[in-house]
Amino acid sequence: MDLFEYQARDIFEKHGVPVLAAAIATTADQAEAAATAIGGKVVVKAQVKVGGRGKAGGVKLAENPKDAREKAGAILGMDIKGHTVRTVMIAAAAPIEAEYYLAILLDRSNRTFLVMASVSGGMDIEEVAHTAPEKLAKVPVSAVDGISLAKAKEIVAAAKFPADVADQVSDVLLKLWEVFQSEDATLVEVNPLVKTSDGKIVALDGKVTLDENADFRQPDHQSLVDEAGENPLEAAAKEKGLNYVKLEGEVGIIGNGAGLVMSTLDVVAYAGEKHGGVRPANFLDIGGGASAQIMADGLSIILGDKDVKSVFVNVFGGITACDSVANGIVQALELLGPKATKPIVVRLDGNNVLEGRAILKAAAHLLVEQADTMDGAANRAAELAAK
Ligand code: GDP
Ligand code: MN
Repeated sequence: MDLFEYQARDIFEKHGVPVLAAAIATTADQAEAAATAIGGKVVVKAQVKVGGRGKAGGVKLAENPKDAREKAGAILGMDIKGHTVRTVMIAAAAPIEAEYYLAILLDRSNRTFLVMASVSGGMDIEEVAHTAPEKLAKVPVSAVDGISLAKAKEIVAAAKFPADVADQVSDVLLKLWEVFQSEDATLVEVNPLVKTSDGKIVALDGKVTLDENADFRQPDHQSLVDEAGENPLEAAAKEKGLNYVKLEGEVGIIGNGAGLVMSTLDVVAYAGEKHGGVRPANFLDIGGGASAQIMADGLSIILGDKDVKSVFVNVFGGITACDSVANGIVQALELLGPKATKPIVVRLDGNNVLEGRAILKAAAHLLVEQADTMDGAANRAAELAAK
C-alpha cells in the first residue's frame, strides 16, 4: 500500500526523522486556518499518490494565510496524472540551500535491501539515474545487519555528501531504517531531503510503501487505508480475500495460479486484437483450493464489473482436480442465480479433466460453454466480448 505524503510525514515524525510542521486540509477555509496556525510562509501541496506533483503545479509556495487559501482553492479538485486532489497538506516553508535524495527499498532481483543516495536530489531522480548515474550511490543493505552507524557513514561517503551535513544525514539514515524495518515498508523515499539556510537537514517530501503481507502484525496500518480512493471492486474482492486487480478491458478472467492468470491475460489481449481490440478486464487468481464458494465470490465480483462482457475461466487441475472445479462452477452459478448474466467460457485441463468436462456438459448451463484449448477459449471469450 502506497501512503499519502502526509501519512509518510507523520510516520517519519513518529520515528524521529526531521520534518516540518504540517496539517492537512480538504477545503480552502481549512487551508487558511492551517496556514494561520503554522505561521509565516507555507507550502500548499496536493496529496495524490503519484510523483511529479511539483512539475504538475500541485506544489505552491504561499506568502500568508490568505495566499494559502487561494493556492489551496486552485489545487483542490485539480487532476494530476488521473488522480483527483481531495486533500492538500499545508507545511511550513523551508528556505532551501541544497536538495538531496535518499531511499531505502526492497531490491527483489538481488534479494536484498538497497539504499540509494544522491546529492543531486529534487524533482527528477530518474533523470539523474539516467544521465549521471555516477551521482546516484547504490549500496546494498543486508536484512540481517540492517543500517548501523558505520553502514550509514559508508553510504554518506559513497554518495559524497558534504562534510558539514554528513553526521545529520547519517542520523537520518538510521531513523529511516527504523521506519523501513519497524513499519514493514518496502520503500521509504525522501526527495528532496534538504539542507536549509541554517544548515539543518529536513525531509521535505516522503514516499512510503507498506508491505501488505505484514498487515497481520501492523494493526495500526488499517487506519492508513484510503477507502475513498480505492476501486470498489478491488475493495469488495479484498474483503472476500480474493487476489483481484481491476484492469481496463472487457473480458473477465478467473484462473488458478498467478502464473497461469498472467499468461491468460496475455493470450486474451492477443486474441482480442482480432476482435476489435477487446482486452482483459481483471486479474483474478483463485489459488489452489478453488471451492464453490471461492468460485462464486470470484464470479460475482467479475459479473459486478459493468465493463465485463464475457468471462473466461481458465483452470489447470492440480491438487484441486478439474471435477471439483467443475462442481464449484455449477454450484457457484446456482448460488448466483439470476445475478449470473454474462457468457462464460470455461477451459479445463489437467488432473481429472474428462470428469470435469462431463460435469459441465451434464449441467448444460445456458451461459457456459467449454473450449478445449487456452487459445481457443481466449479467442471465443474475446469474440463474445466484442459482440
Ligand atoms: P513532488 O514533485 O511530487 O516530488 O513534490 P515535492 O514535495 O518533492 O516538491 C517538489 C519541489 O517543490 C521540491 O523539490 C522543492 O524544490 C519544492 N518545495 C517543496 N517544499 C518546499 C518548501 O518548503 N520550500 C521551498 N522553497 N520549496 C519547496
Ligand atoms: Mn518529491
